[in-house]
Amino acid sequence: MTAVGARLVAAAADTIRTHADELTSLDRAIGDGDHGINLRRGFDAVADQSDELDAMPLGGALEKAGMTLVMKVGGASGPLYGSLLMSMGKTLGDSPVTVATLAEAFASGVEKVKARGRSDAGAKTMLDVLVPVRESLAANVDRPVPEILATVQEVADTSLEATRDMIATKGRASFLGPRSRGHLDPGARSSVLLIRAVCAVVGESE
Ligand SMILES: [Mg+2]
Repeated sequence: MTAVGARLVAAAADTIRTHADELTSLDRAIGDGDHGINLRRGFDAVADQSDELDAMPLGGALEKAGMTLVMKVGGASGPLYGSLLMSMGKTLGDSPVTVATLAEAFASGVEKVKARGRSDAGAKTMLDVLVPVRESLAANVDRPVPEILATVQEVADTSLEATRDMIATKGRASFLGPRSRGHLDPGARSSVLLIRAVCAVVGESE
């Protein structure tokens, strides 16, 4: 995937490492407090494969990174992020990497997360960021890349903030019922971190 691949992997692992404590404390408020630790373990393992991933086409590299996340990350987030990346990789295949093919791959990844989590937007999960970002990408695919990146990050931030007032109906946080209100969803927060990391690398490569 050329050097961009290695930078994507490094940026994702970096942001998860930097924000691991924050993710853990968000998860401690409405979950079991392992989101930061779990994701850090997974993305460190992906970063360890950086050279190998960088030598692969993006589709194959996404599939491999997804498999690593499934194997290394405990809890629900490993299988969910793993499915997202594996499905993106499968959909992308050997297609040329363009905004349109990436948007299509992301859309299929988000569908996979929905299926795997038997959930959708509105349940106070990562899907509350992933679904609006997918819609924003699909609607803006013909705009210049810097505008797409700015829009996607804005949508991601706004969508994360919207999880604060939601009542969780999926995952461990749903056990809290109305008491889950008033807290950001940790999975939505990690989704924003990863989306921002990817946008930063793509922005630099423009
Ligand atoms: Mg947890």
